[in-house]
Parts: sequence; C-alpha cells; structure tokens
Amino acid sequence: MRVTTDRDRCVGSGQCAMLSPEVFDQDDDGLVLVLQERPAAELLEDVHRAADLCPSRTIQVTG
Ligand code: SF4
Repeated sequence: MRVTTDRDRCVGSGQCAMLSPEVFDQDDDGLVLVLQERPAAELLEDVHRAADLCPSRTIQVTG
C-alpha cells in the first residue's frame, strides 16, 4: 500500500489525522502531512476510512 495526497486540494478539515494518526498529521496551516507513505497492513482499514471521509478527496491509496 502506498499513500499519497494532493495538498493543493486539502481543506484542512483534519478527519485524516483524527482517524489515522499514525499515518496523517497536519502542518501549521492545517494541511495534511503524510507521516508514513507505506504504512503497515494493520493500518490499512483506518487509512481507507480516512481517504473515504476526506471531504476534498485529497488522499489516494494505491497497491
Ligand atoms: S481529511 Fe482531507 S481535507 Fe481534511 S486535512 Fe485530511 S487530507 Fe486535508
């Protein structure tokens, strides 16, 4: 699994960091930061939930 984001689309709502704090954080402007581009399999469910609930569809999960 590989996690990427399009930070130009991020609206800083924070769902990703709340739902999957091991993988996502926010910078000082509230924009998403990916902490782990290739997270462990046990984090997959939370990462997918974060991607599904991101209001601006900023998060892509591949692989
Ligand atoms: S949930 Fe989406 S819009 Fe909100 S901070 Fe995360 S990436 Fe940005």
